[in-house]
Amino acid sequence: MPTWDAVWINAQLATMAPDGPFGLIERGAVAAKDGRIAWIGPAAALPGAPAALARAVHDVGGKTMTPGLVDAHTHLVYHGSGVTDFEILSQGGGRKEMLQAGGGVPGMVRRTRAASDETIYEDSARRAGQLIAHGVTTFESKSGAGLELAHELRTMRISRELGRRFPVTVKSTFLGAHAVGPEYAGRTDDYTDYLCDTVLPAAVREDLVDAVDGFCDPMGFSHAQITRLLEKAQSFGLPVKLHAEQYRDFSAADIVARFKGLSADHVEYVSEPTVRAMAGAGTVATLLPGANWTLREKQRPPLQWFRQYGVDMAIATNCNPVSSPTTSPLMMMNMACVMFGLTTEEAVAGFTRNGAKALGLAATHGTLAPGKMADLVIWDVPRPNELPYRIAANPCAQVIKEGQIVYTAVEPSDVKAQDLGDAVVLTGVARISVMSRGNPNSFSVRFTDVYANKGGQWQMVTWQSTRLPD
Ligand SMILES: [Zn+2]
Repeated sequence: MPTWDAVWINAQLATMAPDGPFGLIERGAVAAKDGRIAWIGPAAALPGAPAALARAVHDVGGKTMTPGLVDAHTHLVYHGSGVTDFEILSQGGGRKEMLQAGGGVPGMVRRTRAASDETIYEDSARRAGQLIAHGVTTFESKSGAGLELAHELRTMRISRELGRRFPVTVKSTFLGAHAVGPEYAGRTDDYTDYLCDTVLPAAVREDLVDAVDGFCDPMGFSHAQITRLLEKAQSFGLPVKLHAEQYRDFSAADIVARFKGLSADHVEYVSEPTVRAMAGAGTVATLLPGANWTLREKQRPPLQWFRQYGVDMAIATNCNPVSSPTTSPLMMMNMACVMFGLTTEEAVAGFTRNGAKALGLAATHGTLAPGKMADLVIWDVPRPNELPYRIAANPCAQVIKEGQIVYTAVEPSDVKAQDLGDAVVLTGVARISVMSRGNPNSFSVRFTDVYANKGGQWQMVTWQSTRLPD
C-alpha cells in the first residue's frame, strides 16, 4: 500500500539547506503526504520502488527542483500604470519631478482610490498569477495604496482574497505609513495618530494584518512617529519591518532591530553599527534591486558587512507600479548578482530560505526538509546556479503547492511556420494547465499566430485559438 501521495524522482534537488552549496542532492527524490514533505534524499536511498511508495510518481528528468519561491516584499495590490514615472526616471528625473507630475506613491494612491474593488482585484490577480508562473508559492502583499481607512481595508481584503482564491500563501502587511495620506498633508503627527488609533485597530479587528511596515525617512516618518506605530503593532502581537536607508542613512533599521523585527528593506545606505544591531536582532536585510535599477541609484547595499556579521539577505520583487514593475524573481536574482555582487547561491537563498525568514515562515517554508510544506518548483535548467544566470528568462516548468501540481508551463507541440515574406503564420497545439478558482484545469488549444515584419521588427498582429476536445 503506497503511503505517500506523490513522489518526484530523478531531480537535481536544491534543498537550500544552509549546510552546503544549494543543499544539493544529485539524482534526488522528494515525497509529499498531506501537503508536507514526507521524505527527501538521494533516489537510490528510497526505501522501496517509487510506485510502491506513492500513489503518483513523477520523473523530473534531471531538471532542477527548488523550494517554492518566497517573495517577501511586494506592493502587488494596486490599480493603474506608473509608465509616466518610468518616462521621467529613465530620462534622468527623480522623485521631485515624479511628484510634480502627479506620480510616485501619491499617483499610485490616486489611481487605486478611483478604481472599483473588482478592477483592483482583477489587476492584482493577474500579477499574482504571473508570480505563480514564475515559481512563487508565497508572497507578501502590502497595503499603502489607499492611505485612508476604507481604502486601506479594501486593499487588504483583496490581499486576503488572493490567498483564498490562488494556490499561494499570502502574508498581508499593513503599510498605512507608506506616505502621508493626502487629507493629512503637512500633518504627519496627526496622520500617525489616525493610523494608530483608527486604521490599524480596524484592520486588526477584521484579521487583515500579519505584519506592520512603514517608511522611516526624512521624507516619510520620523523615528518618534514610526516608534509609536511599531509599539501599537507590538500591542497587537504583530511583527514589524521597515523601508529603511533607501535614500540615506537614517538609522531606521536600528528601530527594526530594537523591536526584534523581521526585516529592514532596501538598506543601500545602512551603516556598519546598524548592521551589527540587525545581526543581534536576527533581522533580515531584504534587498530590492528592481528599485535600485529603476531609480538609477548608484549606492549598493554593503554586502561585506551583512556577510561579516551574519545578517541573512532576502531578495524580493518589490512589485509596484512606480519603482519596480516586475513579477520576475529570477530577473531580481540576476540583478542582485550583477549589480550587488551576490553569489548565485546567495541569490537563490534570497528568494527561498531567507525570503521565508523575512516573513517569519522559516520553520515551515523556504527549504526542503521532512515536515516542511511541500511547496516545490521544477525548473528547466540542469543546475540551480543557472537560475540567476539568464537575463529575463522564465524556465519555470511546474509549480507544486502543498503537494498539488498547480501550474504547468504551456507546452507547445506540432508547431509549423509558414513564411509569407513580410508575414509569418505560426500554427500549433499548446497544452495549458491552470488553477481556476481553486480547481485544476487542463486543456489543449490549437493556435494560429500571425507576425508581420514592420520596419525590421517582427510583431504579432493577430492570433486565434480554439479549444480542442479533451
Ligand atoms: Zn516597498
